[in-house]
Amino acid sequence: MARAKSNDHAMPEAGAPAGWGRVIAHADMDAFYASVEMLDRPELRGRPVIVGGASNRGVVSSASYEARRFGVRSAMPTVEARRLCPEGIFVPGRMDRYADISRTIREVFASFSPIVEPLSLDEAFLDLTGTERLLGPPLEAARALKRRVLERTGLVVSVGVAPVKMAAKILSDLSKPDGLLAIGPEHLRAFLDPLPVERLWGVGRVTLERMHRAGVRLIGDLARRDAGALRALFGGFGPHLRELALGRDPRPVVADWQRKSYGEESTFARDLKPESEELGRALLAHAEALGRRLRADRVHARTITLKLKLARPLGGGRYPLVTRSLSLDVPTDDGAAIMRAARTLLARAARSEKIRLAGLQAHNLERADPRQLGLFDPAAAAAVARNARLNRALDAVARRFGDDAVTRGLAHAERAAPTHRIK
Ligand SMILES: [Mg+2]
Repeated sequence: MARAKSNDHAMPEAGAPAGWGRVIAHADMDAFYASVEMLDRPELRGRPVIVGGASNRGVVSSASYEARRFGVRSAMPTVEARRLCPEGIFVPGRMDRYADISRTIREVFASFSPIVEPLSLDEAFLDLTGTERLLGPPLEAARALKRRVLERTGLVVSVGVAPVKMAAKILSDLSKPDGLLAIGPEHLRAFLDPLPVERLWGVGRVTLERMHRAGVRLIGDLARRDAGALRALFGGFGPHLRELALGRDPRPVVADWQRKSYGEESTFARDLKPESEELGRALLAHAEALGRRLRADRVHARTITLKLKLARPLGGGRYPLVTRSLSLDVPTDDGAAIMRAARTLLARAARSEKIRLAGLQAHNLERADPRQLGLFDPAAAAAVARNARLNRALDAVARRFGDDAVTRGLAHAERAAPTHRIK
């Protein structure tokens, strides 16, 4: 593997998406907090800037590369940083400002991929798979990403590109500062083999000591070991680490919106029978509300969950909770489809007991992409399109006149605040 230390060096193997499978970028701002301080206060540029640790009992949260030359690292106690770097300029952190810039960075990331998985304020995975037509080969896309972040923020990001997450993260780290490294699948093993085994995710201090005792120092050592022998040494973790060492890391990039779930629920003024019309009306209102929220966010849900709280008290203000989930064949943002799922689930959960609370959740989300609909069935595609037009019209009415204008009011039910949560 050759190493590119700036945007303008490339490895020959990169830039050839054929055979890549997935293309994953890991983007990580260089010395983020310290760089922001130097951006805002030009007199600090080129100086050993150390963020955090205003008090002697604190720890360093970020150090400029000038400070790192003295051995200062983040998470180091301030006392030690002062000893290593007496001329260091210690500045307090300004989280609001960092969060502000983080939002801009995320905007840039989002303009490069619909699937961005943030790891922290200044770091994210981007799934660039299938973006070649729009952005060019992976290396070009990564160069453009670096340029765009610099233009928008005045700050430098380092980027690693690989077919698996783990390798992308190692590459961005190795490339710093102001680096870009990409590696294709055909060179993944050759790249990983000579790296120290602690580069693998999950190899902490204890595991590392045991690895060393077993004669495993490099990732390649692990890759060449027999899976059975590793299981004997490290349990199920052993074969898992060996898979990583072989460059096999199936973990997908998972965007925030994919993790989200949408929920609507209501507690009834009086307990309802499962077959009551009122319960049906409440579920319908929830299904339609969910549909509107999914459409507003341009996502489809693959899984619908029904949640019922039974009226039988368990004591201490608690009640039995029943949940049932259904996976849809076609992910949906349509209230009627969600209601059909809710009816199926209600039949499955059917009990004779009365119900005090009913809710619906939509999760397992996918980006709404009209091009994916009804590829094989023109009639179904036409029906989906008709439905989508109807829903847009209903959404417009709801925006003007309120939800109840389209959901036939909720008699005897109080609609709880909608929930929005990240798993
Ligand atoms: Mg960083």
